[in-house]
Amino acid sequence: MRLYSTKNTSKFVDLKEAVIKGLPEDNGLFMPEHFPTLPSSFINNLSDYSFEEIAYKVASQLIQDSIPEAALKDIIHNAVNFPAPVVSLDEQFHILELFHGPSLAFKDFGARFMAQTMSYFNQNENRELVILVATSGDTGGAVAAGFYDTPGIKVVILYPSGKVSALQEKQLTTLGKNISAIEIDGTFDDCQALVKKAFLDDELNQAIRLSSANSINIARLIPQSFYYFEAFKQVDTSKDIVFTVPSGNFGNLTAGLMAKKMGLPIHHFIAATNANDIVPSYLETGEYIPRPSVATISNAMDVGNPSNFARMLDLYGSTWNNLKSAISGYRFSDKETKIGIKEVYERYNYTIDPHGAVGYLAFKEYASSHPNSLGIILETAHPSKFIDVVEPVLKSKVNIPQRLADLANKPKEAAFMDTSYGSFKNWLLANY
Ligand SMILES: *Cc1c(COP(=O)(O)O)cnc(C)c1O
Repeated sequence: MRLYSTKNTSKFVDLKEAVIKGLPEDNGLFMPEHFPTLPSSFINNLSDYSFEEIAYKVASQLIQDSIPEAALKDIIHNAVNFPAPVVSLDEQFHILELFHGPSLAFKDFGARFMAQTMSYFNQNENRELVILVATSGDTGGAVAAGFYDTPGIKVVILYPSGKVSALQEKQLTTLGKNISAIEIDGTFDDCQALVKKAFLDDELNQAIRLSSANSINIARLIPQSFYYFEAFKQVDTSKDIVFTVPSGNFGNLTAGLMAKKMGLPIHHFIAATNANDIVPSYLETGEYIPRPSVATISNAMDVGNPSNFARMLDLYGSTWNNLKSAISGYRFSDKETKIGIKEVYERYNYTIDPHGAVGYLAFKEYASSHPNSLGIILETAHPSKFIDVVEPVLKSKVNIPQRLADLANKPKEAAFMDTSYGSFKNWLLANY
């Protein structure tokens, strides 16, 4: 497998370089040179395969000989080890539950696969790899769980003190082993600035092999295409299959576009956003106008300049007409989102999180003029992660999965630091 940068399509790197580097030097995004077409004998008989087998089949066709068969089987076995069930609300509305992993969000798929892949590419290096991540909450939890106990790799997570939820903080600070957390007396931007500075510090990079678990790493995107196939296998495919994707940086939706490119007969995509509606606006007008994000109750989608937009354009030859015939965009306010949460509960007795609710509303609007469509709405997180929003809306208790409840009793371990780069650098040099 070879990859090019969206800013230079004639220069290629191998998968190892793309995964370890994360970003091309020209600040574009890595894209696979070819998307294989999966055989129709596979696409038409998905139900003969387990989720793990589907993941292996898709990955091996895409990755080719960049990772040998036995190693790739191992990676998939360790990364895709929880289910992605489809729950039918009725004949037309279906929910793809992507929250059965350790951090209860779909980001677990990407983080686990990236951890396994990095560890594979790092195995013959004699120096450990230290991964720095700044988080405003959700990404850090998935990365921490994904890299936990991964040989040869240590992870340092920086988070803003008092600005992540209590449970999110527990997800970052209670694992131990190769995962360390630093609580920064500042904002998320301060955390991100410290990480950026560290990557540019020659002296530090001589002393420690640093890498990032950036959300635009291609190793986070590839595994997200697997569950589109897994979902397809679980529904009536004589209908027009429409995937509805609650979106922020549009990694999840881009992975769906990749699954379609590999031959999965997806009829249409719906990009569902909150007030941060840069992509729906682009689909309507043909103009891409990034702007500062605004805070909403579906906060994992509060993104003002979606990082995967360049990949979406690349997949559709940078042509607005092509993109808008494949994807419809809808946006919803917080008020509407709360009504959506309530409606799903009252109509279907299903508790949906604020992100999934935005997806539900979008498909509902689309379905009103597309009666032959069958909607698969991606439920990107478990509702208990957003209990502060969901419980007051439903006026009833949300069930908290045991693995999240258990965290409450685990002791927090984190270094506490001000925002000065000197303290951070000294801490790294003393610990690695
Ligand atoms: C990250 C996240 C999203 C947005 O996903 P993108 O791939 O960035 O579009 C949606 N919902 C939840 C719960 C998330 O954590």
